[in-house]
Order: sequence, then structure tokens, then C-alpha cells
Amino acid sequence: MTRQQPPAAFGVWPASLPYRDDHEMLRETARRFFTGECAPHREAWEEAGMVPRDIWRRAGELGLLCPRIDPEYGGSGGDLLHAVVLTEEQVRAGVVAPVISLHNDVVAPYLAAYGTEAQKARVLPRMATGEWIGAIAMTEPSAGSDLRAMKTRARREGDSYVVSGQKTFISHGATADIVVLAAQADAGISLFLVEVDGLEGFARGAPLDKMGQLSADTAELFFDEVRLPATALLGGEEGRGFIQLGERLVEERLMTGVVAQAFMESAIDHTIAYTRERKAFGQRVIDFQNSRFRLAEARTEAVVCRTFLERCIRKFMDGRLDATEAAMLKWWSTEQQNRIIDACVQLHGGYGYMLEYPISRMWLDSRVAKIYGGANEIMKDIIGRAL
Ligand SMILES: Cc1cc2nc3c(=O)[nH]c(=O)nc-3n(C[C@H](O)[C@H](O)[C@H](O)COP(=O)(O)OP(=O)(O)OC[C@H]3O[C@@H](n4cnc5c(N)ncnc54)[C@H](O)[C@@H]3O)c2cc1C
Repeated sequence: MTRQQPPAAFGVWPASLPYRDDHEMLRETARRFFTGECAPHREAWEEAGMVPRDIWRRAGELGLLCPRIDPEYGGSGGDLLHAVVLTEEQVRAGVVAPVISLHNDVVAPYLAAYGTEAQKARVLPRMATGEWIGAIAMTEPSAGSDLRAMKTRARREGDSYVVSGQKTFISHGATADIVVLAAQADAGISLFLVEVDGLEGFARGAPLDKMGQLSADTAELFFDEVRLPATALLGGEEGRGFIQLGERLVEERLMTGVVAQAFMESAIDHTIAYTRERKAFGQRVIDFQNSRFRLAEARTEAVVCRTFLERCIRKFMDGRLDATEAAMLKWWSTEQQNRIIDACVQLHGGYGYMLEYPISRMWLDSRVAKIYGGANEIMKDIIGRAL
């Protein structure tokens, strides 16, 4: 009996999504960029705790930044599937940073959705070239899941807002040029577009020490009586922040599902390849019934997840994905991601614990997915409230 060849990543269960040639071309470019220009630097970037700015410029040159933004603002006018192929290729290449999805799919959409003409014209073209790196700052030391408890205050004074407070765990906190900042204004939580370069009263902490995602900088941000022009208010209307965050978090959670799926599929592919090579008791590890059963379970779980993910992607593209279903996807897919990768580490034995094996890094890099973007308990709360 001839054995199946090792599956090509993401190729065994072809997506049912309506990919076109332009998506496949972007996939090709992204694959070359992540495998050729990012993956070889992973260790150096991990040691530095961040990536060099040049790599953002390079990503911009290749059209990998803001592909969904209107060409009028420097983007490529693409759709969600462009984001999906980019993300899949990044995960597949084992590249954590630059965290392009945060820049493209979390930060830029705030501007596209709520920015005034002037805000979009100023910020988006710079984000599309990689001149500016984006971040979003919601979390505070005593307000993570409970965002309404945030204390950062934006006080209106004539034509300015004066901002004081502290943010923590901010991805790109050490390197960002433009920060979407959530703060309490008189009318309630509001979002501000903060150009942080040279801003008086603004400081960043050193990159925080994390267990995984080591090349992605995460830092605290400090605002001490920082004066912003009133035009920094995103969309120009106070008190809309909580609604805006709620609306945008649907997309962020959908993209977390895309990342989780890519991790699962990649982990399974790595593990099949490894267990085909590794021998114990005179046979290949994959030939033990336990290994085959666990991999069969993992493959099935991943295919079931993909089915739901693709349903969510389609609903999002039709404008019908709601907060409840996005929460279901976020908790379920990140939970499966972690479970499957843990099983894959086990199937690697001691080598699975060694950092030179990609599976160990996947395990470390995955853990946070159950925590950020809204902890999974909060996802269940959202789902529970809709019952
Ligand atoms: C690597 C990393 C990157 C991040 N990037 C960003 C970023 O770019 N921007 C940003 O703003 N934030 C970012 N965060 C913050 C992240 O979103 C928060 O850590 C997350 O929302 C949880 O908040 P917390 O850490 O304050 O935990 P807490 O809210 O203190 O939660 C602690 C525990 O209590 C549980 N819990 C809390 N409330 C409830 C409840 N009502 N019911 C049941 N259980 C509950 C939680 O699920 C969790 O298990 C990042 C975090 C990490 C670790």
C-alpha cells in the first residue's frame, strides 16, 4: 500500500472560500517575504524583543500593509481574504513579528471605519508604507477585561484634550508611531489618535518580558498631562469609544480565529512529518495506534474548526457576523489551538520541549491567544448573555 505523502500545509483541506488570482498572488508574495526575509532573523529579533523598522518598510513596499484600505489612502482596496492569506502565510512561516495583522486588521480599520477625512488622509498612507506602525491601547493595570473601569482621562481644555493615565500590555508599545488610545472623556470612553513621536508628557516602558511571542514588543505607555489637539478625537465625536471598540472587536476576534486555525494546521503538519521520521521500538512513531489516533483527532478537530471559521469569514464578508458568533469562534478556536499544539508537543517527546523545534515555540506563542483580544471567559460571558 503506498502511503500518503506528507500533507502540504493548508493544502489537504482546501478552503471553500472564494479566493481569486489576486489573493493567490498576495499569498505567494507573503510566503516569500515571511520565509525569506523574516524567518531567518527570528532569533535575532527575539533577542532584541522587537523587529527592526526596516522590515515594516519592506512589507509596505511589497504591498503587505493595509491591503484592505482604499487605494485613495494608500491601500490596495482588497477584502478580508487578503488578510486571511497574509495571516496564514505568516503563521506557516513561524513568524510572530512584525505583527502585521494587528497593524492591518485591528488598528487601520479603526481609521477606515471612524476616522474623519483628515485623519484618514494623514495616517493611513503612512501606515500603508510602513513609515508608521500602529497600536491600540485599551488595557490598563487595573482595567483589562473590565474596560469600563479604565482611569486614563482626557480632559477638554479649549481646542485641546489633556490626557493622563497609564496603559499596559500594549502590542507595539515600544515601537508604535500612531496609537489608538481609549480614555475617559466627559461624555464617556472615547478614542483618540495619538501621534506619539516627540509628544511632551508621553513615555514608553521597556518591552515587557513575556513567555512567548518574544519578537513582538509589548510595553506600557504613560501619559502625563499630554496635550492633544481636539482633532485627535477619532471621528470627532466624544463618548462613542465603547461602541466603537465593541464593533471593531468582532473583526479582531475573527482574525484571532484565523491565526488559531493556521497554528493548528501548521502544528499538525509539523507533527505528522516528525512522527514519520522518528523511530521507537523499531517502528515509526506515527505507526503507534495512539499517535495515529491522536493525530486523527487533531486533524478532525482542525477541520471542524475550519468549517466554522469559514462560516464566520463568509458572514463577516456579507456584513452579518455578530459579536456572539465572533466570541464563539475566538474561544473555541484558541482553545483547540492550545489543546492540539499541546498534544503535538507530546508526540514529539523530549524534542518537543526543545526550542529548536518549531512545535515548542508554537506552544509558547499560542498560550496568550486564550487571554488577549478578550479573555475566553469574557467570550463565554458574551455568548451566555445572548442565550
Ligand atoms: C501579549 C499581550 C498583548 C496584548 N496586547 C494588547 C494591546 O495591544 N492592546 C490592549 O489594549 N491590550 C492588550 N493586551 C491586554 C489583554 O487584552 C488583556 O490582558 C486581557 O483583556 C485580560 O485583561 P487582564 O490581563 O487585565 O486580566 P483580568 O481582567 O484581570 O482577568 C483575570 C482573570 O479573570 C477572568 N475574568 C475577568 N472578568 C471576568 C468575568 N466577568 N467573568 C469571569 N472571569 C473573568 C479573566 O478571564 C482572567 O482569567 C495584551 C495582553 C497580552 C498578554
